[in-house]
Amino acid sequence: MHLRYLITGVVMLAFISTVASSLWGVYQISKNILIENTLETNRVYAQKLATTANTYLEETFKTLEFSAFYIAENYENEALLQQEVERLRYQTDIFNSVAITDNRGVVLAISPPTLELKGVQLSSEQTGDALEKQKPNISKPYEGVTGRKLIFISQPIFNTAGEYMGLVGGTIYIEYDNIFHKLLGEHFYHDGSYVYVVDEDGTIIYHQDSSRVGDNVANNEIVQKLMEGKSGAQKVTNTKGVKMLSGYSSVELSKWGIVSQRPLDVALLPSSDLVQKAALISMPFVLLALLIILIIASFITKPLQQMALLSMNDQKKVKIEELYKVKGWYFEARVLKESLVHAFTLLQKRIDHYQTQSTTDALTGLMNRRSMDETLIRWTEEQQQYAVLLIDLDHFKSVNDTYGHAIGDEVLKYLAESMRMHSRPQDICCRYGGEEFIMLLPNTTKAEAYRTAENLRQYLEDTESPCGRPVTMSGGIAAYPQAGTAPHVIIERADQALYQAKHQGRNKVKLYYTEENTL
Ligand code: GH3
Ligand code: MG
Ligand code: MG
Repeated sequence: MHLRYLITGVVMLAFISTVASSLWGVYQISKNILIENTLETNRVYAQKLATTANTYLEETFKTLEFSAFYIAENYENEALLQQEVERLRYQTDIFNSVAITDNRGVVLAISPPTLELKGVQLSSEQTGDALEKQKPNISKPYEGVTGRKLIFISQPIFNTAGEYMGLVGGTIYIEYDNIFHKLLGEHFYHDGSYVYVVDEDGTIIYHQDSSRVGDNVANNEIVQKLMEGKSGAQKVTNTKGVKMLSGYSSVELSKWGIVSQRPLDVALLPSSDLVQKAALISMPFVLLALLIILIIASFITKPLQQMALLSMNDQKKVKIEELYKVKGWYFEARVLKESLVHAFTLLQKRIDHYQTQSTTDALTGLMNRRSMDETLIRWTEEQQQYAVLLIDLDHFKSVNDTYGHAIGDEVLKYLAESMRMHSRPQDICCRYGGEEFIMLLPNTTKAEAYRTAENLRQYLEDTESPCGRPVTMSGGIAAYPQAGTAPHVIIERADQALYQAKHQGRNKVKLYYTEENTL
């Protein structure tokens, strides 16, 4: 698991949950607003319908009242009464049928005459009720003689003497084209919204679905409120189990209740639409923000990633320069970088130290014998031409004996320095062991090597050493490949030459002699 993915993951999680929760918030808020608005719209609509129905009924009563005066005046004129019922039916366009009865309920005139009720005594409970009351009346829905469900609206007729003469009234077939269809008919919706009207007993007198007319729904929560004369709006579940947002209001004159309602699901549709749109609109910003987050995450993790990769570098030598290039642009990265640089520098120094120690001689600082052997093996492999000058101080034992070991060491260092002075950059000076030294001279003939050796010998002879007097040296020279092919053979030959120099009185340089190669 990489830090970069970890950070990206965590930030994305936080980001996505933020976006999701704000969308959820948008959804919830818009849902509440939609519910409130729908409830309010339905409440206002139901109220408006109730007021309109009330006005309509008032108008109807007035028309009938006016008619009742006229009828009272012309009570005996059968033709005029017939004319009046026809007028009421056609002119007012309210009633499906209109009738005038005497005070016992016997029909005096009726329109349309095809009903053939003239002279018949109306015996229904509702007409009986209206006759008895002798007041303007709106009946409960009932089944008329023709078998149709209807309501009967009537006005009493009094003569000038104040005697009760009967009533004039009209029926409205509630299952068919009627007052409510006129009031509400235009307002059918196809989304499941509808309006229905109940009478004061909770019986449906108008419904979009005419088969529901006549059903008693008094146990409906809203209908109960309407029966109590209340108006308002609330959430209800209808008989089909659909959740509805309903507004309701009652008609003052008739005590009818009007309910306008819309399915909750339909009302909430714009809400999910809104969320979708909000998501769509915010998408570019979300993507941009994600991109920025990814870039920032990469910026944050980059130094740590680089340092981690450099630290697990397989190469023994950690590239400190690479580490320097890492941008520690925030506190932790900077401190970590400094610590790593410090640690690796220290480590590198140690490594360098031990490497130097393993390749150089501690006293003189020259290459040690092990390294020298390695160099010679390499040169041999590369078939690099070279000459070897083997050096041994003369009577060094006596220097030690006379001046002490410490001065002896100083003399050895002095010899090493002298060798360096007389060597070229490509030459390698080694301490071979004790007071014996070697110079490896690449691309050098025996004659050139001899010259170098002689210069050095002469220098030592002429120069005061740390013991207060000059020390002398003896030297032996052999060269690859003339003297042999293996390094140890070359050194052996040089040693033979050195032995000769010692033998011939010391302070001399001798070449390894072969028949083919002489000076
Ligand atoms: P010769 O001319 O025959 O070479 O005589 P020599 O006295 O140099 O004889 P030899 O080579 O036998 O003596 C080497 C001496 O070098 C013996 C030893 O005490 C001394 N020696 C070897 N290593 C060191 C060292 O590291 N420091 C000192 N001060 N002396 C050393
Ligand atoms: Mg010796
Ligand atoms: Mg010696």
